[in-house]
Amino acid sequence: MRKTHIIIHHTDGDDGPAANIASIRHWHKDHLNYADIGYHAVCELVGEEYEIIIGRDWDWDGAHTLGHNQTGFGFSFVGRFTDYEIPEAQLVRGVMGVRMIMKTLGIPPSAVFPHRQFNSTDCPGKLFPWDRFVKMIGG
Ligand SMILES: [Zn+2]
Repeated sequence: MRKTHIIIHHTDGDDGPAANIASIRHWHKDHLNYADIGYHAVCELVGEEYEIIIGRDWDWDGAHTLGHNQTGFGFSFVGRFTDYEIPEAQLVRGVMGVRMIMKTLGIPPSAVFPHRQFNSTDCPGKLFPWDRFVKMIGG
């Protein structure tokens, strides 16, 4: 189904220079029984640079936000921002990715939400700089 809004997550797991998306995909498919990784895209460190990596097919329903998986695009930052702050370079790269998705899907800044808006969670973490992030994506 067409995505009408973007929902921002953290993975609640630590990042590192090795790509994490394969192990997240494996966890979601083999342990949670999802058809594919639950997110539509992630932002994580690969080697020395932060990259945006495609998760599941963008037309598929996600598996990331109860009640919003059909129309919500799931974008996740690899990291645990309940415990530490997001690296600036990761925030900047993630903003670039989210802006690209907004443009591609025709989603305005007012339709980008933190996961905690919809479910009982602090995702993307209480230390995630939400207000700054919203300004950076043009909101
Ligand atoms: Zn979340």
